[in-house]
Amino acid sequence: MSDPDPRLLELLVCPNCHGEVAYVPEESVIECRGECGYRYPVRDGLPVMLIDEADKP
Ligand SMILES: [Zn+2]
Repeated sequence: MSDPDPRLLELLVCPNCHGEVAYVPEESVIECRGECGYRYPVRDGLPVMLIDEADKP
């Protein structure tokens, strides 16, 4: 399983609340650290920043 490019991660924001996101390597997800807390999957090292694909808390 490959990790996303850190330079790419810096550019990402949550598409739902436009908050900051952070990569969680243990779970291979991108987690919103803003208002919504949505968690986006990472597939083959590529973050899938789609609200439809997110886990909602
Ligand atoms: Zn968010």
